Amino acid sequence: MTTNLKQALKTHFGFDNFRSKLQEDVVKAVQRGDRDVFVCMPTGAGKSLCYQLPAVLAEGITLVISPLIALIQDQVDHLKELNIPACSINSKLPVSERRLILADLGSSNPKLKLLYITPEMVASPAFQPCLMDLCSRGLLSYLAVDEAHCVSQWGHDFRPDYLKLGELRARLQGVPCLALTATAPKNVQEDIIQSLRLSSPLSFLTPVFRSNLHYDVIFRELLPNPYVHLCAFIKKTLSLGGGSNGQGCGIVYCRTREGCETVAHQLTKLGVVAKPYHAGLKATDRTGVQNEWMQGKVLVIVATISFGMGVDKANVRFVAHWNLAKSLASYYQESGRAGRDGLPSACRTYYSPRDKEQINFLIRQEVARKQEKRGFAKDTDKTAMTDFEAMVSFCEQEGCRHATISKFFGNTAPNCAGACDYCRNPKLVRAQLERAATLSTKIGAAQSSEPKGAFGFQPDTYGGGKKGYGFERYDEGEGYSEDDPFKRKKEFSELFKKQMSMRKGNDSSQREEFVPPDIDCPLREASSQRIPKLSVK
Ligand code: ADP
Repeated sequence: MTTNLKQALKTHFGFDNFRSKLQEDVVKAVQRGDRDVFVCMPTGAGKSLCYQLPAVLAEGITLVISPLIALIQDQVDHLKELNIPACSINSKLPVSERRLILADLGSSNPKLKLLYITPEMVASPAFQPCLMDLCSRGLLSYLAVDEAHCVSQWGHDFRPDYLKLGELRARLQGVPCLALTATAPKNVQEDIIQSLRLSSPLSFLTPVFRSNLHYDVIFRELLPNPYVHLCAFIKKTLSLGGGSNGQGCGIVYCRTREGCETVAHQLTKLGVVAKPYHAGLKATDRTGVQNEWMQGKVLVIVATISFGMGVDKANVRFVAHWNLAKSLASYYQESGRAGRDGLPSACRTYYSPRDKEQINFLIRQEVARKQEKRGFAKDTDKTAMTDFEAMVSFCEQEGCRHATISKFFGNTAPNCAGACDYCRNPKLVRAQLERAATLSTKIGAAQSSEPKGAFGFQPDTYGGGKKGYGFERYDEGEGYSEDDPFKRKKEFSELFKKQMSMRKGNDSSQREEFVPPDIDCPLREASSQRIPKLSVK
């Protein structure tokens, strides 16, 4: 079968090989057709081919549900270029063309192989009879639900019309269903399977564990001089080099524009040339910095999360988070920009409970603002908070960092083998946590009874802001750019100041210096021999 599949892959799509064993396994599972299939693979991994190849080889028609007409058009154009009979029925289609398609679908031997449609259109009374007719004549080969996270109320792109697909799926008796999504947290995966009523599906999850990445967390407030610490970390990781790609390079992520400016300035002062990158720069300057970094002229970029989308650089030796990421899913994505060449690389978070309070505050404000705008609360409002809590737990809990990430994405705990600070030396990580808790208790005792997390340090000057609390907007994070950031900046800043001023005992003399354990990126030798195993449930 493999030879035939490979031949078909070459004949119809022009590819010599499957992109990965996972892609090949999914295609085979779909083609067998005895089970529903659930696929969770990163963007660009080649998910579309997982249903397109079986669709071309099947007798009947594959119905593909996709959320956006623009996405659909792209796919259909691409398939047409490959001479694969594909089309879409959508509201923009002229009536004459729609009639032609419906006539083909109604014929005894339809020519179409793939029919793309939005969830809104598939639910329309005009299309339903045609669909049920195809199904009853045994001409519906597969139902593919692309961007399936849209079905989940926990997903970032929730679309109510996707919810109706569960009903549709139940009515299409005997038609195997394939749901595809990019890497998603476990709760989203479970929600997709339940909402689409997939019956004991075969799940194909890309393993999230990357053994060449070393994860660690350093409590920023425990450091005598965080900038010096960051600088030493950068020098150490850059000294590892960039393999065959020349020198290595790295990214420091900051939450705010001022943070980027300050950290870049401090690093440069300490002898590591670093350039800031954020939305406050002119577009040409931003492109200039990005190009310099891509070409290896500048090795360290200090950026907000607006940097990185679509940036594919092999020799990134480190990704440091100077501020906490807004969710564990974002953190995995951002830190995952390190080590794409498979060589040992370091992912470090400089954790600060002050960050936690700020982001917590921001998310709550944002949710309240959205609720006020729409006039009611939604279950999805909880998502941002739970995702952020997972990030905080990653930093504050004892345990393997890789296992925490893997569990979050529904994978089993990997064999970390020293690829995180905890697995290398749990005692040192515990010592850091205990030290942080002691310091927090001392300060906390003098503070108000306002609820706070496990650690509650006093405000410091390392949050990245030049003035006061340095409260920039949560920069380019999705959902945080809807209105005037400067108006909100002021509003947030004032509210936050008010909140903090309610506390007493912010005397910085109470802060003791603490030199954290030496968990300075003890990178292992390249461990590419340990290829992560495919996880199939
Ligand atoms: P995803 O949906 O997972 O984001 P796509 O299906 O859009 O990814 O595929 C990403 C790119 O990979 C496309 O350009 C596609 O043509 C290409 N691709 C898919 N499978 C293969 C393969 N087996 N060999 C080479 N390129 C492939």
